[in-house]
Amino acid sequence: MNSRTARLLALLLLAPLAALAFEPSPVAHPAVADAPAGLTPEEGLARLREGNARWVAGRIGPRDHLADIRATGHAQRPFATIVGCMDSRVSTELVFDQGVGDVFGIRVAGNIINDDVLGSLEYAHVVTGSRLLVVLGHSHCGAVKGAADDVKLGHLTGLLARLRPAIAAVPDDGTPRNSTNPVFVDKVARENVALSIREILARSPLLRGLHDSGRIGLVGALYDVETGRVEFFQATPSAAAASINTD
Ligand SMILES: [Zn+2]
Repeated sequence: MNSRTARLLALLLLAPLAALAFEPSPVAHPAVADAPAGLTPEEGLARLREGNARWVAGRIGPRDHLADIRATGHAQRPFATIVGCMDSRVSTELVFDQGVGDVFGIRVAGNIINDDVLGSLEYAHVVTGSRLLVVLGHSHCGAVKGAADDVKLGHLTGLLARLRPAIAAVPDDGTPRNSTNPVFVDKVARENVALSIREILARSPLLRGLHDSGRIGLVGALYDVETGRVEFFQATPSAAAASINTD
């Protein structure tokens, strides 16, 4: 067995054990690594805000991707995890001007939450030690429009059904409740982000424990595909968390 194989085996064996070791208690988190370079959730959020400001101003990069590859080839310590939509205009690394190894990106149509997404988030925050969790919706979202129009298409039908609670959460103001109404579509996208955050905290005792103990920050945001700007729903991760009623 060469050393690389041994390292891989060690990672495969130790990572699951590290997670299982404290799964029964969402309060104690001995296996959570310290944040890379000491980044707190607030510092991580500031880094994302600054990166998006560069993106909007057309001042991203330049980056030495080869140097980043060499630096991260044997380990990764992303400071943030972003749950976003698969939309081709909303690349999580690009819109926040982040490089190789900086952020975990979980992308699925409509940035919905399911068991697999929760499992990925628990890996990111419990095993790897990422300190900031962002749920990023976006304007003109095709998944939101499809759900609003009650589109039925293969496996997409079940995925779009996960957006129904967000649609139901938008008060009826007498205007069309379908994809022809951009204001309605925007409101559903915002509700979807808020409900996703609530679902994460309600369904994952591990993430709820990290959140309640202040180890991770959790914030919602919306990306404007027409301007490139990200609107964070709250000023700080802790403020965002405090405003969310998960009861
Ligand atoms: Zn979308």
